[in-house]
Amino acid sequence: MRYAVLPQAGVVKIEEKPIPPVEDDKVLINVKMCGICGTDTLIYKGIFHVNFPYSPGHEYSGVVVDAGKKVCSVKVGDRVTVNPNHECGLCSYCRSGLPNHCENLKKPGIKSNGGFAEYVSVPEKIVYRIPDNISFKEATLIEPVSCVLHMVDEAGMKAGDLVVIIGGGTMGLISLLLCKNYGARTVILSEPVEYKRALAKQLGADLTCDPAKESLSSLVKEVDRYGADVVLDNVGSSNTIYEGYKCLRKKGRLTISGLNSDKTDIPIPSQDIVKNELTVKGVFLNPNTIIRAIGLTASGVYPLDYLITHEFELSEIDRAFDISMKGEAVKVLVRMNGQE
Ligand SMILES: [Zn+2]
Ligand SMILES: [Zn+2]
Repeated sequence: MRYAVLPQAGVVKIEEKPIPPVEDDKVLINVKMCGICGTDTLIYKGIFHVNFPYSPGHEYSGVVVDAGKKVCSVKVGDRVTVNPNHECGLCSYCRSGLPNHCENLKKPGIKSNGGFAEYVSVPEKIVYRIPDNISFKEATLIEPVSCVLHMVDEAGMKAGDLVVIIGGGTMGLISLLLCKNYGARTVILSEPVEYKRALAKQLGADLTCDPAKESLSSLVKEVDRYGADVVLDNVGSSNTIYEGYKCLRKKGRLTISGLNSDKTDIPIPSQDIVKNELTVKGVFLNPNTIIRAIGLTASGVYPLDYLITHEFELSEIDRAFDISMKGEAVKVLVRMNGQE
């Protein structure tokens, strides 16, 4: 079988290896589609550290072609996706209902056995069946949808809120779709790339902001002098976090999902946090939200197709990585077997 591997940062190659064995508790998936995630590009660029050689890809869908003898929740022929954030189930965090903080978090994509491969063999417990009305393409977005659900939950968003979204990539645009459906009264999305701002408008953003040209917090205060109830920062740089904080009204909530390598201190005055009862919190991964993400995707309410801007064959993986690092790409998908 063919699969993609990064022998080192900045290089992606297709290699051959035998189809992986199916142990008792594992499921062999014939992968159909796999999306390039921000994490994959950070690994490719050498910003997010992993051991090389490394097999990227954790947002994928496919069909079960074999299952070990202990497997009971899926069978051959089932259409599936995976939750790549694979918790141990045994540590103190797992037993407290916090699988995203598992001490032994295993990411198949972050170790090996990545999704840009014709076949993957993965533990049954990370495999989820998807209904027929979710396409293999849409199914690659279930993991990002589940992460956004966690972010919006943690932000405590309520109908009628003024919401600011920082970043118009996959996470930002899914946040936009969710917040509009949750009844946000106004959603303002900040994104430097014009194409993504236009896409955000098409997907329902009330206003967009080009942060290279105008101050996001001033724009927000023009719309409502008190500021935003909720800010969702999908970028997570010191600049965006500080600007996000400046957008908040009293009692406002800022959640940060972007993992940025910039280590600059953020000068948020502690008195403001205390007197204005601000919430500034990080959100990580997708604890217990995959089932809801599958349901939402199946509901068809969310036009997730719009987020898929490019598609490539596995043999073109280097081009897929190239394009995904360019500004205009939102979600770049790779087809494993020349079919959907
Ligand atoms: Zn991802
Ligand atoms: Zn654990």
